[in-house]
Amino acid sequence: MRQIPFNNRYARLGSDFYVKTAPSPVTNPELIIFNHELGDELGLSGASLNSPDSAAIFSGNLVPDGAEPLAMAYSGHQFGQFNPQLGDGRAILLGQVTGSEGSLCDIHMKGTGQTAFSRNGDGRAALGPVLREYLVSEAMAKLGVPTTRGLAAVTTGENVARERLLPGGVITRVASSFVRVGTFQYFMARDDIESVTRLADYVIENNYHQARESDNPYIALLKEVIDRQASLIAQWMQFGFIHGVMNTDNMSISGETIDYGPCAFMDEYAHDQVYSSIDRRGRYAYNNQPSIGLWDLTRLAESLLPLLAEDTETAVEIAQDALKTYSGLYESYWLDGMREKTGLTTNHGNDKILIDEMFALMETNKADFTLMFYYLSKLEIDSLDCDENVQALFSNPEQFEYWARKWRDRLRKEGIDDKTRQAKMQTVNPVYIPRNHQIEAAIRAAEDNNDFSVFHNLHEVLQKPYELQAGKDAYRLPPEPDEIVHQTFCGT
Ligand code: AMP
Ligand code: MG
Repeated sequence: MRQIPFNNRYARLGSDFYVKTAPSPVTNPELIIFNHELGDELGLSGASLNSPDSAAIFSGNLVPDGAEPLAMAYSGHQFGQFNPQLGDGRAILLGQVTGSEGSLCDIHMKGTGQTAFSRNGDGRAALGPVLREYLVSEAMAKLGVPTTRGLAAVTTGENVARERLLPGGVITRVASSFVRVGTFQYFMARDDIESVTRLADYVIENNYHQARESDNPYIALLKEVIDRQASLIAQWMQFGFIHGVMNTDNMSISGETIDYGPCAFMDEYAHDQVYSSIDRRGRYAYNNQPSIGLWDLTRLAESLLPLLAEDTETAVEIAQDALKTYSGLYESYWLDGMREKTGLTTNHGNDKILIDEMFALMETNKADFTLMFYYLSKLEIDSLDCDENVQALFSNPEQFEYWARKWRDRLRKEGIDDKTRQAKMQTVNPVYIPRNHQIEAAIRAAEDNNDFSVFHNLHEVLQKPYELQAGKDAYRLPPEPDEIVHQTFCGT
């Protein structure tokens, strides 16, 4: 096996930050998928990881030379309740490598067995959630949304006990950081300001380099994290994505989507859509995501207070000023994105009203989120010839035409020809998203029949979400009534 060029900087932070933990071996690992494109970027592909070693490595049975597997320590607010002791209970940071752009990438495996943070858990992952995370995170990447990537997925040859016995799996994920808001909370909860500072320095060094130029790099860090989260959540909203468990331990410090559990893309638009079986009060509903983002960021700001200024009063003021920028940032990221999705390149005062009205009509008419924007990007300004497809998404098609008249009037102010606008719109309005019923079908085939072809076919379509692919209509269309997935599960 060729050497993987590890560069394990997290391990150098000191033993307060983790517990060294080797992955626990599994009986009979088999590789489901390896992401060659990503492997190439990380310098991992080629001879070494095409070999049978790959199943052994990505199940945890073989720890490659230079890896220093460890379970990361973190706390977190789960559904608003603070839990001081979470941490990687079923995951390990295998090691870190330098990516193609020179920045550090964390290689993190989930389902690798018990750690010091497992509490009552078995440290394992079921195959279904592994497939779901791989499909959705890779789809997000191809849509252009910041996210952890899927590097590999394996079956373990062992069962895990959930509400029933399920086949086990391990997913290997890559991100620019697996440090979470909850990692800062962990040390703050222990009044360990020195470690908070060390963690902040580490994050600035690896993920927020430019903050080093500021008078107070920690204030710059907080502001930048706020900015990246505002941008990230605006992007989720633009694709109808619902994360489902925005606990502070599931908010990455690097602004990437992290920890795919009961996440889902909505089919029919509903502003307060919830899929997660455990989110009974809709804390993490679609329309709550922007404000929950701020809630989580406020917990981060609290954890950074001692670094922001010498006296607490000033520190609180600085934190509040930084947090106050969030709403404006979010609104402008959202509106910029929505303008792009509706074909508007200039700013007009009433654009938000026009877009809000479109969403209100989509909701009353039960229009499919993704198809709405995709079909919109096919329309012509001076002819209704292509309107049929959008109309068909509306239970009352006249309501679409009522809105479309205003939209067309607005488009006339743009002075752009149809072809140019349509082409531009099609770069931001996907044809394909990982629809829940398709994910479910991929999981069913794998779990029930050991058939991974459904998974692979879906994965392949999602590699090019903005391109119409011949013969792939089934992936484009919403579920039939009997295929609708009403609930998703986190699968822990
Ligand atoms: P999650 O909901 O996956 O973000 O996990 C929340 C916390 O529970 C984290 O500390 C996980 O490591 C831990 N956890 C989840 N599932 C398991 C499991 N099967 N065994 C041990 N710990 C787990
Ligand atoms: Mg988590």
